[in-house]
Amino acid sequence: MPLLYCHVHARAFVQDHHHWTYLAHDTIHPLKRLYEMLHAADIETSDYQVIETPCDQCEESTRQHLRDH
Ligand SMILES: [Zn+2]
Repeated sequence: MPLLYCHVHARAFVQDHHHWTYLAHDTIHPLKRLYEMLHAADIETSDYQVIETPCDQCEESTRQHLRDH
């Protein structure tokens, strides 16, 4: 299962629990490198894929932005 990650807030989506949690950039970088290595070697990589996506805080700030204007 690919990992959903928000680079702006350093948050990852825990699919089992359906919530967002803090995950340091230092943790996500080796994962991305691993994915790129496996991908380059033509190995099935979807479990290691990191997908950049807006998190709950992104959505919250968008909502606040809409409220404030
Ligand atoms: Zn975010």
